[in-house]
Amino acid sequence: MFEGVDTIWMDGEFVDFEDAQVHVLTHALHYGTGVFEGVRCYDTDHGPAIFRWEEHLERLYDSGRVYDIDIPFEPEELTEATEELIRREELDSCYIRPIAFYGYGPLGLSPEKSPVKTAIGVWPWGAYLGEEALEEGVDVAISSWRKYASSQIPTNAKTTGTYVNSVLASQEAKANGYTEAIVLNKEGNVAEGPGENIFLVRDDEIYTTGLAESILDGITRQTAITLAEEMGYTVHDDATISRGELYTADELFFTGTAAEVTPIRSVDDNVIGEGTKGPVTDDVQTAFFDLVESGDREEWFRYV
Ligand code: PMP
Repeated sequence: MFEGVDTIWMDGEFVDFEDAQVHVLTHALHYGTGVFEGVRCYDTDHGPAIFRWEEHLERLYDSGRVYDIDIPFEPEELTEATEELIRREELDSCYIRPIAFYGYGPLGLSPEKSPVKTAIGVWPWGAYLGEEALEEGVDVAISSWRKYASSQIPTNAKTTGTYVNSVLASQEAKANGYTEAIVLNKEGNVAEGPGENIFLVRDDEIYTTGLAESILDGITRQTAITLAEEMGYTVHDDATISRGELYTADELFFTGTAAEVTPIRSVDDNVIGEGTKGPVTDDVQTAFFDLVESGDREEWFRYV
């Protein structure tokens, strides 16, 4: 995955890939006290362009605020560092991973004495669930693991430690022969995928689970809502969706920075719609890829 990556930005400096190391007594390694982002840079008609960078940065700082992780760099510094990394690595398109975490320090649960470490890595990353998945759709299963409730751990923050929930759900899905999982919330309604938000189509209207359902407010989710509304679709962005409603949906699709817009063709072996990418999903997906290939919407791109 990281083949050919030479440089990592760490705590204000560009360091060789092999030198981007932390101590084993790093606070975040023991307690998951880190916040991060996943962002994509696309090879657009205007050259390499980072998609919705400002929104991702805002979510990163907001995630930090929840845990008092006071990122010791200004947003402009992280922006400059990221752009410089992309130029140094000579990448036209890539995935960008900024992370900030409590570093080496006392291992008490209150980490105020640990220094905050900040790093950014960039690397080439194609379709997360596979090229074929974008066309044919993926087979998913409801996970036996529930999503933690926002009353237990803030679900609007993207926190390293909480991804053990996503790892469990993904591992289970793969072990059972599925490509991806869908995780229900504590109430038993649909939350999201391990790294994706979920959309449902019924009678040509679009539904996606609301923020009160213990989901991450995905930036691709927001993009899909905007694009769909601009095409004239009615989008219900605060839906409560039951497991049964998934089975009887006309169409289902995932959104996410990594997964982009991926159709779902079956849930628990129940075929969804025609068992391939549906027409509404195709509209949203086409609008999405047209957008990131053209890079034409200035306010959503940061041209490198
Ligand atoms: N939910 C979870 C749990 C995720 O990890 C992600 C990926 N960041 C998403 C949803 C989708 O968010 P985004 O579109 O901002 O990548």
